[in-house]
Amino acid sequence: MTFSTVLITGAGFAGSTIARELANAGHRVHIIDKRPHIAGNAFDELNAHGVLVHRYGPHIFHTNSERVWQYLSRFTEWRPYEHRVRGVVDGKEYPFPINRDTLNQLYGLDLDETGAAEFFEKHREPRDPVQTSEDVVLNSVGRDLYEKFFLNYTRKQWGMDPSELKAGVAARIPVRTNTDDRYFTDTYQVMPAEGYTKMFERMLNHPNIQVKLGVDFSELTDLELYDHIVYTGPIDAYFKHCYGPLPYRSLRFKHEHLADVQQFQQVGTVNYPNDHAYTRITEFKHLTGQEHTGTSIVREYPEAEGDPYYPIPSDTNEALFKRYRELAEKEAGVTFVGRLAEYRYYNMDQVVGAALSAAKKLIERLRPSS
Ligand code: FAD
Ligand code: UDP
Repeated sequence: MTFSTVLITGAGFAGSTIARELANAGHRVHIIDKRPHIAGNAFDELNAHGVLVHRYGPHIFHTNSERVWQYLSRFTEWRPYEHRVRGVVDGKEYPFPINRDTLNQLYGLDLDETGAAEFFEKHREPRDPVQTSEDVVLNSVGRDLYEKFFLNYTRKQWGMDPSELKAGVAARIPVRTNTDDRYFTDTYQVMPAEGYTKMFERMLNHPNIQVKLGVDFSELTDLELYDHIVYTGPIDAYFKHCYGPLPYRSLRFKHEHLADVQQFQQVGTVNYPNDHAYTRITEFKHLTGQEHTGTSIVREYPEAEGDPYYPIPSDTNEALFKRYRELAEKEAGVTFVGRLAEYRYYNMDQVVGAALSAAKKLIERLRPSS
């Protein structure tokens, strides 16, 4: 039997899932990452004060996919966690996503479910077709709520007006006539019991997998040694930006430890649509359930330059991405998967789903000859 040797660039969810699948199928995998750690943007670690924090911003796991849930459950135990968020408007915190309590508290009303539905119906500005993120919000809740919760947050987060962003961005956020104040309603809402990094250590702990950290793909000179390459970094960088840079939004994370504060805020994340240069503050102990005499928080400051974190869903950017994707389709020995390589605003579970599908195809293709 002859098995293949595959190079995987990027040890995040995309790269690590494919690595494990190929290794289980008998192939040899070399996985590299230019960072000094595994787990990609989901990397978590104990900070100097012993609090488990997410270096690249808060990562909350949620999925409706039984397949993804079953798959990751092989590598971790879970802790149930339902994320809650408040949005600050004129110095007061309100439940977010907007639900009936948000309306009642904000406008001093006493609406029931039907009343909340009528409120939205009365205030919404119908749009047809719904194409942009502005359309999505105006079409569902109307201008005042749009201006209070969405307009400035979106401008800050993306450096763009909601009218320039595809509908899918704001469509991530539901609007509710009930009083459910959870951020997500997925079937599975959990956090890895010992953290993401421990889960990734188990995924990559396989005799067929060799991990090399601090290695940049662009510096490798021995690519001919590999039967196939999986690339999970930014697609434009792979092609040396030949059509010009594909825009990604970056963030600066300002971590802080408060030694004598048991709890800094009432919920996991507080959003600041209209104040401050940061978009939100997350307090990690809510997410992880850790007990500690102090607490650690992170503020997210959106930036144009820096590590690529978000593909920016606009018509222009998607047109440019398609040009890169055409090149990728001609790159016979390379598979492109993940949030940066597919330029898709994927959540973690969607990346795992995409990686499992890509791995299945690749295993078919690399089927060992006897
Ligand atoms: P990444 O995790 O980015 O991994 C790609 C890896 O490739 C990186 O480690 C990078 O260093 C490496 N790499 C790139 N180029 C090279 C190169 N040239 N050479 C070597 N290595 C290279 N999802 C959720 O489901 N829930 C959340 O709550 C959530 N919160 C988020 C919060 C923030 C602030 C951000 C930015 C994302 C969040 N996500 C969340 C999305 C989640 O981070 C991604 O879906 C997921 O981590 C993407 O995995 P990936 O493997 O595609 O990419
Ligand atoms: N959003 C907003 N106000 C908020 C929260 C979100 O306008 O208080 C918009 C904004 O455009 C944001 C998008 O909804 O980028 C998606 O929000 P989500 O919380 O899903 O973003 P992520 O966690 O991926 O950064």
